[in-house]
Amino acid sequence: MSSEALNILNHRASQSFATAAERSLEDTQLRKNLRHAATVIQTKRGRMVAEMPDWQELRTSGEAIRHHTMENLDIYLEQFEEACTKAGGVVHWARDAEEACSIVLRLTREAIAREGASNEVLKIKSMTTEEIGLNRALEAEGVHPYETDLAELIIQLGQDEPSHLVVPALHKNREQIRELFMHEMNLPELGEDPQELASAARTFLRERFLRVPIAISGANFLIAETGGVCIVESEGNGRMCLTLPNTLITIAGIDKVLPRFQDLEVMLQILPRSATGERMNPYNSLWTGVWPGDGPQNFHVILMDNGRSNILADAVSRQTLHCIRCGACQNTCPVYQQTGGHAYGSVYAGPIGAILTPQLMQMQAAETLPYASSLCGACYEVCPVKINIPEVLVHLRNKVVEKRSALNPEKLTMKAVASVFRSEGRFRAAVRLGRVAERPFEHADGGGQKWISWLPGLLGGWTNTRDLRAIPGESFREWWDKRKKKVNLR
Ligand code: SF4
Repeated sequence: MSSEALNILNHRASQSFATAAERSLEDTQLRKNLRHAATVIQTKRGRMVAEMPDWQELRTSGEAIRHHTMENLDIYLEQFEEACTKAGGVVHWARDAEEACSIVLRLTREAIAREGASNEVLKIKSMTTEEIGLNRALEAEGVHPYETDLAELIIQLGQDEPSHLVVPALHKNREQIRELFMHEMNLPELGEDPQELASAARTFLRERFLRVPIAISGANFLIAETGGVCIVESEGNGRMCLTLPNTLITIAGIDKVLPRFQDLEVMLQILPRSATGERMNPYNSLWTGVWPGDGPQNFHVILMDNGRSNILADAVSRQTLHCIRCGACQNTCPVYQQTGGHAYGSVYAGPIGAILTPQLMQMQAAETLPYASSLCGACYEVCPVKINIPEVLVHLRNKVVEKRSALNPEKLTMKAVASVFRSEGRFRAAVRLGRVAERPFEHADGGGQKWISWLPGLLGGWTNTRDLRAIPGESFREWWDKRKKKVNLR
């Protein structure tokens, strides 16, 4: 991951989880909003799952598909590139966040010039673009992105950060949203009825949908077999962005690929039930390449690594990449329910964030996240692709301990001592050096035995509670060598 990309993540995760969580715990309104939203979603999910007699079999299939994909990721990514290109799309590869942002910026500038458009783009809800700080990168270049998902729009207008994978504005209640819209959309008469709020957002966005010819999207799934891209959503705003603009730029992590079109049969059953407690999403959009006269005529897909191949290289934590971003683990987690998403200092909050963020950051900062769990296993039980999150958490905790102990003074001392004991020459030299070094601290008892009762600095830890015998003036081996010499001389 590039230094710039790490900076983006480090900036977010600059505080320990415990420190950030303390602040969240003091916000009673936030905790009330969270409790309400998580309970509603969990109850709906419970109902939808209970009506599926083969739910456990579906989970097993989901796990098998994701496992097989990750084992053969290189093959399926290349297959996707080939199929997408054949269908008229252009595939780009990005090593990290910096590279992905610069490809988007280049494509956006080219599209603005081609379309003779203003410096604006539409955006479909995408956690991947949040991960790489794309909005910031666009604004720095004078391009204004419009979030079109209602929750993302709330986050953008409030200059806030998402706190949930599926419902990014979960921490906001109706009154807070009304106040934001009144202020930002200049609607002093706005009521707090949900329909009124939705209608205000619709009016705000419609004008932009009709005016802006460039859209940027994420992807729920990429289909290797067909080169197609799939997005599921509830509002239809994504569908507008996928059909109205002339240029569509899709950015997806390399983990989003599925081998076959048929795999959607499993994914589109487990994802909506786990995410929003719905039998299916109201809008399931699938598009493949370019069709003359129908939808975007310029279609680009950016396949982004940004730390994912490092995760793939670890046999235990590789399962993190199986995630289909349903958010069920967040809703069920007792820690997340109390602290909310912002305490995780990452766009990926909750149990999945606790394992994904430290790995994306190669364990830099975010080291406290693997400890943001009681290891109760609730996340594992609800995960539709059976990711064993507690197992990965423990694995990452081991890594944190190993990394910290590499600089531990006690461990370094033991290493040095081991090296001395492994070599006779080094041992003899150390004994000689010790005799000289301890001389100022020696004192003799009545029988002539020399003792050390005080040592300076860290070594004082030994002499605080015990006296040490001084190193004898002559060791047994030295005495024996001398004696042998004398005998030989005779
Ligand atoms: S880890 Fe599992 S439960 Fe959590 S978001 Fe990913 S797929 Fe959903």
